Amino acid sequence: MSQVPLITLNNGVEIPQLGFGVFQIEPRDTKEAVLAALETGYRHIDTAEMYGNEKEVGQAIRESGLDRNDIFVTSKLNNGYHAYGDALAAFARSLDDLGLEKLDLFLIHWPLPKVGDFTETWKAMEEIYRSGRSRAIGVSNFNPHHLNRLLQETEVVPAVNQIEVHPYLTQEDVRAFNAEHEIATEAWSPIAKGKVLNDPVIAEVAERVGRTPAQVTLRWHLQRGDIIFPKSVTRSRMEENFRLFDFELSEEDLAVIAALDRGERTGPDPDTFNYVPQ
Ligand code: NDP
Repeated sequence: MSQVPLITLNNGVEIPQLGFGVFQIEPRDTKEAVLAALETGYRHIDTAEMYGNEKEVGQAIRESGLDRNDIFVTSKLNNGYHAYGDALAAFARSLDDLGLEKLDLFLIHWPLPKVGDFTETWKAMEEIYRSGRSRAIGVSNFNPHHLNRLLQETEVVPAVNQIEVHPYLTQEDVRAFNAEHEIATEAWSPIAKGKVLNDPVIAEVAERVGRTPAQVTLRWHLQRGDIIFPKSVTRSRMEENFRLFDFELSEEDLAVIAALDRGERTGPDPDTFNYVPQ
């Protein structure tokens, strides 16, 4: 029995709170990395068409010998496919590349506010959901004003909103909006790609509780209730990032880490990011 808690999404589907992210893992390294993660105990993989490694994620799932139903798989709709028909076709390609009959979660990767109309995209997501080919659907990088449009103009409430969150960007407003609408928050770049690991406050807590800065930061996310999927191609770090269930942070430690917030993004701002690959 895994120690990783399950979070129940707003449609009853359960997702492991700790998973493994594969952004910036080269396709040639992906199968090995995902196999190592599955051996370590991770049962939730976060990929995207944009990452270019869905095929290799699928190969690892098949070669792992694990039951497909025991692994939670998320992928995301790339920015060039927001038109209704394009979204349906892109989803079919993702399934095909992964070699899966269905996904556990499919997300709109970015809202692209100036490019098109993401409510049309969401209607394609709703069709995918109703067809049973994705057990849940959600969004990524949506701010409350984007979500408000979906809530007003479409039917299915997103199961998750995957946003950048870490001690330097705590996103309390978006997390509160998500919670109010029963949308689970997934925190991407949970250790800010390593940038928070040398922070003296985090280092002090880590030293005191006898854990590494990465473990303290990841545990902080878990105790706040967010879903995380740290990325590493280094096996010892994959194992380190998985050992989070035999210690606890005090309320005071949670608060001092949250107080490190300085609104610092490692990635694009969803309100201005409109990049579409040609
Ligand atoms: P992370 O915050 O997970 O950091 C990954 C980096 O930290 C890598 O360079 C890794 O190095 C290093 N690292 C990992 N563990 C440790 C450790 N224990 N000690 C020291 N260094 C460590 O960043 P990501 O941007 O990868 O975010 C995680 C996942 O979130 C992605 O893989 C992706 O699935 C998702 N994501 C989603 C986005 C979206 O727009 N929806 C955007 C960005 C990410 P190494 O690999 O060399 O070991």
